[in-house]
Parts: sequence; structure tokens; C-alpha cells
Amino acid sequence: MADCLFCKIIAGEIPSEKVYEDDLVYAMKDIHPVASTHVLVLPKKHYENVLDFARNGDAATALALNKAIAAVAEAAGVAEKGFRVVANCGEHGGQTVPHLHYHVIGGRNLGEKMVF
Ligand code: AMP
Ligand code: ZN
Repeated sequence: MADCLFCKIIAGEIPSEKVYEDDLVYAMKDIHPVASTHVLVLPKKHYENVLDFARNGDAATALALNKAIAAVAEAAGVAEKGFRVVANCGEHGGQTVPHLHYHVIGGRNLGEKMVF
């Protein structure tokens, strides 16, 4: 989609620190990490958020996203100790980039609270 930051990154028009890629999914380091592991996992096809993906997405991409999250966690070395997966949705969810993405955060004990 034109004027989408993450679409431009996927297309290689804007640089990023890629950590994983397959036919359906792209993953990169977050530019403002909140922990030693902070990776964004996103579908290559543009969906605005989890609501848009639920309406218009496909099962192959959903599974590929989940597998990519697992691969990223394994590669980062956080799978054994644990990590958090977050998808912000819309204004109250704190979403700032309207291209569906999952934050994979780990490398320290994040505690039990979902909201800091
Ligand atoms: P959200 O607030 O859930 O929409 O998350 C957007 C995330 O994208 C934030 O954590 C930003 O730090 C991150 N971000 C913004 N621009 C870039 C970029 N050019 N490369 C990597 N991460 C980015
Ligand atoms: Zn996009």
C-alpha cells in the first residue's frame, strides 16, 4: 500500500534490520527496543490490524505469522525462558503504524502485568 511505512520497508525502499523472511512474512528489529529482544513480525501483504486481518486475511498467512514468531524467538534465544507477543490495535490499543505487526519482546523478566 502506498504511503505505508512497513510496506516500504518490506519493498526495500526504507532500510531495516531484517531477522527473518519467508514468502508471506517479514520480521525486523524494532527501531526503539523496550528489551534486548524486540522484533516486529508482519505479513508482507498489507492489513491494517488484527480486525482487518480477521476479515480479509487467509489461514496460510496466519500460520506463517505464528511460525515466524516461534522462529524469531528460537533464533533470539528467548524461547526457553519465555517472551511476550503483543499486537496493538487502533487508537486505544496504542497502534502507531497501521500495518498489522506482532511485537516479540523478551530477554528479561517482563513480569505479570500486561500494561506498564
Ligand atoms: P505500534 O505502536 O504497535 O504500532 O508499533 C510500531 C512500532 O514500530 C514501534 O515499536 C516503533 O518503535 C516501530 N518502528 C517505527 N518505525 C520503525 C522503523 N523504521 N523500523 C523498525 N521499527 C520501527
Ligand atoms: Zn503496509
